Order: sequence, then structure tokens, then C-alpha cells
Amino acid sequence: MENRQPQKIKLKADGALDVPETPIIPFIEGDGIGRDIWPATRLVLDKAIEAAYGGRRRIEWHELLVGEKGFHETGEWLSEEALAAIQDHVVAIKGPMTTPIGTGIRSLNVAIRQKLDLYACVRPVRYIHPVPSPMKSPEKIDMVVFRENTEDLYAGIEWQAGSDEARKVIDFLNTQMGTELSGMTGIGIKPISEKNTKRLVAMAIAYAVEQGRSSVTLMHKGNIMKFTEGAFSRWGYEVARERFAEQTLTEADLYDQHGGRRPEGKVVIKDRIADMLFQQVLLRPDEFDVIATPNLNGDYISDALAAQVGGLGMAPGANIGDTCAVFEATHGTAPKYAGLDKVNPSSLILSGAMMLDHMGWKESADKVRRALQATVKDGIVTYDLARQIQGAKEVKCSAFAKAITEHL
Ligand code: NAD
Repeated sequence: MENRQPQKIKLKADGALDVPETPIIPFIEGDGIGRDIWPATRLVLDKAIEAAYGGRRRIEWHELLVGEKGFHETGEWLSEEALAAIQDHVVAIKGPMTTPIGTGIRSLNVAIRQKLDLYACVRPVRYIHPVPSPMKSPEKIDMVVFRENTEDLYAGIEWQAGSDEARKVIDFLNTQMGTELSGMTGIGIKPISEKNTKRLVAMAIAYAVEQGRSSVTLMHKGNIMKFTEGAFSRWGYEVARERFAEQTLTEADLYDQHGGRRPEGKVVIKDRIADMLFQQVLLRPDEFDVIATPNLNGDYISDALAAQVGGLGMAPGANIGDTCAVFEATHGTAPKYAGLDKVNPSSLILSGAMMLDHMGWKESADKVRRALQATVKDGIVTYDLARQIQGAKEVKCSAFAKAITEHL
């Protein structure tokens, strides 16, 4: 007989997940509208799993007190125990969290990513009809952005103009490296390493291969920043050659050896300069599939693509490392709507579907996506979309979730 006792997900030696029939999954409700969107999400995920697998599978949810709720109940915004629990359970999901002011914590989200080495921020972007979009043919957009999460200008290595540290660096650069920087200059450092680039690009290629995607585009600004962004692109091609020679080919080979026709099952590796890619995702969105890019470019392109399909309220996301993954809403805590049962829970619900995919529970993930699409297509939506879709019926956050469950 199968074991239905709640158990932890485990990591196998090859990095794959060993998911029991009743996995224990930690969740962080989140601050502000977290109290609205989390119950809505949990209802949809539980019902989708039930619809897909009968009673055979279910999730045993385990709450972690992090953020404001954590601070009120334990005195800590983000405890070591909570971090250890995420690591220990391999997969977790979270609502948005307030950035605590005056505590020395830059951002709880950044702290979680850094401490657990969740080095890839993964954002699928796909259009859901009839969500209003500024594009003429938004249905052509179906991309997944893999944004490097740990380095680049986001590494936090920067000094204010006029500080002792900035003066020291400027002095070193001017006297030893031949620069002519003025004294009052702010300094930021942009580290991009071979190791972190290769593990990010390898994750993006592995995803493309597994999901039968057509291409991975390395997005960079290497024409100007040759040794950081340019190196990102070179290391990206290198890791494709070193680890995925059988499954990939470069865009140059595609034209030289295959007349531009992609051989069945192969993933094309190409690169684009960042500014040009911003134009091309507007003009020819169907030419792009998986995008792998350093941190700052990734920040910009993820939000720009989300806007192309109707905004952040609908965009799911995940932060993934080699040993654990945290799935999350991509918007913030929207404090003025907190507790009003009003906002759109789609971002967190779709992140939950990504989590089910990650666990290998694909049937339930597909059910969540299809049911959400069907609900929006029926014109049953929350206030943010209702005001933009003609003839739509505005419902509360909880009623939207309930309507989704009726489509399962
Ligand atoms: P926000 O995303 O919370 O809200 C901006 C506006 O977007 C809201 O006023 C609302 O009009 C709309 N909105 C956001 N989510 C929505 C939803 N689900 N449905 C409908 N409308 C929605 O951004 P902000 O006001 O800049 O930030 C508020 C707080 O959230 C800050 O403390 C910030 O640090 C934090 N934040 C957290 C995360 C995260 O946890 N991942 C991300 C961004 C901001």
C-alpha cells in the first residue's frame, strides 16, 4: 500500500526531486494582500490536486511565520529556523512581503534568495485571453525568462560619492589603473562570474530541452560591457557546447548546416543585444522562447514582458537553486487593499501551478492553468481586470478562486 503519511520532499543524488504522495510544503502567507491571495491560492491548488488525482495525492501545508506575521509572533522578520525549513523541505511557496524599514534588512525576498542560493529567477510570460494587452497579437507571446539572481549590479557592492570607501576605490583606479574619475563619483561594481553564468544558462537550457522549447536566447549588452555582459554570452555558448552538445545547436549552425530549419528536438542557442531584444519582443515575439540573462537585464525584461500580456497581477514567478525552490507572487503587498478580499490572486495561483510542475504533478498544474483561463474567458474577474474588460463581471478575490474551482 502507498504511504499517505505526510513526508518531506527529498533530493535524489542526481538533483531530481523525490516527491511523496503527501508532501509537506511550507508556505509563507505574506504581508498586506497575502492574507487575501494565499487562501484563494490554497483552495485552487488543493481542489486541482483532488480533481487530478482523486484522494491519491494531497499537500500537507506547513505555515512559516516570516515577514510582519513572523515579527509580531516571534520578534523576527526572517528566522534561521524558517530558512532551514525551506531548505529542508526543498519546495516552498510565498506571498508578497513588506520590506522592513530601518532594520538593516534590505529586502526579505533578497535575503531568502541569497541565503538559500536561489540563483535563478524564473518568470514564464504567456497571454491569457481576453486580458487587455497593449500588443496587437499578444497570443504570440510565450516566453520564459531565466534571470541570474545573485550577482551583477545587484550584488550590493557600491559606495556613495564622497564616502571614504568610494574615495579609496577612485584613488586606486586613478593611480594604478589609468582612469580619470572625479572625486565626487558614486561607485558600483558589476561582478559576473563564469561559475554563476554557467549554472544559470545550464538551468535554462535543461528547461528548454525538457519542455521541448525551440530556443534559448542569451540576452546581454556585451557590445559595450565586454568583460561582464560579453563574457556572459561567451560562457553561455560554452556551457551549451560542454553539457548539451547533443541537444543544442547555435543559430550560426542552424543557417550554415541546416538551411535555417531547426532539426526536430534540438534547441537553438542564440544571443541578442539587450536593447535590440526589447524591440524584437515587441515586433516579433514568436521568435523568442526561453531567455537567459544577467540580473539587471532580467529585472527589466521580465516586467516589460509581463506588461505585454496584461501586467504583474497575472505574472507568476519562482526562485530556484540546486537544492531548493521558492515559488512566489511577483507583485508587492498592495497595503491599501489588504484584507478587502478584492485583489487578483492569479499571480500566486499561477506560481502555485509552476510549483506543481516542478514537483512533477503536471496534470494538476495544467488543470489550474486551464481553469483560470476559462474563468477569465467567462468574464469573471477581479476589479483590476473588470475595469478594463467590457462586459466583465467583477467578483471578489475569494469568489474568483471559487469560480476557478468550478472549472476544474
Ligand atoms: P505593489 O505591487 O504592492 O502595489 C502596486 C499597485 O499594484 C497596488 O496599489 C495595486 O494597485 C496593484 N496591485 C498589486 N498587486 C495586485 C494584485 N494582486 N491585484 C490587483 N492589483 C494589484 O507595489 P508597491 O506598492 O511598490 O510595494 C508595496 C510593498 O510591497 C513594499 O513594502 C514593497 O517593498 C513590497 N514588495 C514586495 C515584493 C515581493 O514580496 N516579491 C515585490 C514588490 C514589492
